[in-house]
Amino acid sequence: MIAENLHRIEQEIQESCALASRNPEEITMVAVTKSVDSMTANELVELGVTDLAENRVDKLLDKKRSLSNYQQIKWHLIGNLQRRKVKLIINEIDYFHALDSLRLAQEIQKRAEHQIKCFIEVNVSGEESKHGIRPSDLQSFIKELEGLEKIQVIGLMTMAPYEATELEIRNVFSTLKQLQESVKEQDLQYAPCTELSMGMSQDFKTAIEEGATFVRIGTALFKKG
Ligand SMILES: *Cc1c(COP(=O)(O)O)cnc(C)c1O
Repeated sequence: MIAENLHRIEQEIQESCALASRNPEEITMVAVTKSVDSMTANELVELGVTDLAENRVDKLLDKKRSLSNYQQIKWHLIGNLQRRKVKLIINEIDYFHALDSLRLAQEIQKRAEHQIKCFIEVNVSGEESKHGIRPSDLQSFIKELEGLEKIQVIGLMTMAPYEATELEIRNVFSTLKQLQESVKEQDLQYAPCTELSMGMSQDFKTAIEEGATFVRIGTALFKKG
């Protein structure tokens, strides 16, 4: 079942890339394992998936422990991170997708033993329930990160609104793409900002058409039938 789902998703990624004249190698599929156990995550790794994501610190640490035989896994923390948990997790992950405050960045700077690849989470849709900084604050936030050498801003991340038309979702993704370009153009050594983490099971095709380089897929990998 998982093998079939994975195969289908990989095909859909290829198709979306073809539609958008993009190279599929630009896209990393990050498997979001928050809804499954370590055995199921293990199955994915055996099928060749190298990038795994969790949105909770404790669950990521559990999975990482269970899968410690696999050196090739890249671990992504995609959820909101509380400052008091930074020291538990920051040296266990390769990517952090939800940087959204200076105080969090300062805590990462204090605790990280190596440079962490970070995405700044942007609340493009403006929903109050969402984490992330406002688009209008992005520029000043990036400036504030200068000098925190443990943080490398590799890109931007967003979540599309839950209930929205395809057009609205597309607009959210294309806005994030424009913001990403505006940072990238500045050629900042600490913020190359070449990547875009956007697109989940429901909307990854649209996200790829709009420039996603990391898609975060959960339910579509594990659904039955
Ligand atoms: C759960 C989650 C996903 C995956 O969502 P699916 O709809 O299951 O594909 C992606 N990103 C974040 C931040 C998540 O919390």
